[in-house]
Amino acid sequence: MANGMIVKCRSCRYEKSFHLGWGTLYPALSDVVGNLPLRKKNEVLDILNNRNGETRSYHYDLYICPRCSTFHRLLYVELGYDSGRVYKTVYECPECEYPFEPLALEDASVIDGFPCPRCKKRALRHHLIYWD
Ligand SMILES: [Zn+2]
Ligand SMILES: [Zn+2]
Repeated sequence: MANGMIVKCRSCRYEKSFHLGWGTLYPALSDVVGNLPLRKKNEVLDILNNRNGETRSYHYDLYICPRCSTFHRLLYVELGYDSGRVYKTVYECPECEYPFEPLALEDASVIDGFPCPRCKKRALRHHLIYWD
């Protein structure tokens, strides 16, 4: 299963790789929680420590902003707590504050239709990668 992606532009030299999910080194949530924005980190720790939190899922996802066409790799965390409630990290674009959703790798082909973050031409190509 692919767990990363390289995005390249055919028009300029933009190239960026995104490692998503985990390889064989699967870290504990406590090892990566510090990579969350401070407010989200505090929310997660509060739920885990004070509200019967249990970890459901955490991984890096690729987020694409449809407004400013920038790519971001962000840590997604999902917790269950208070018998039945669910916490999920919800992000806004760090550049323009547009609320955005993680992109599933199966849907990665939409990337090829986005304007390049650097030159703004629609010349992006993506390749799935495998790493561990
Ligand atoms: Zn470009
Ligand atoms: Zn944006």
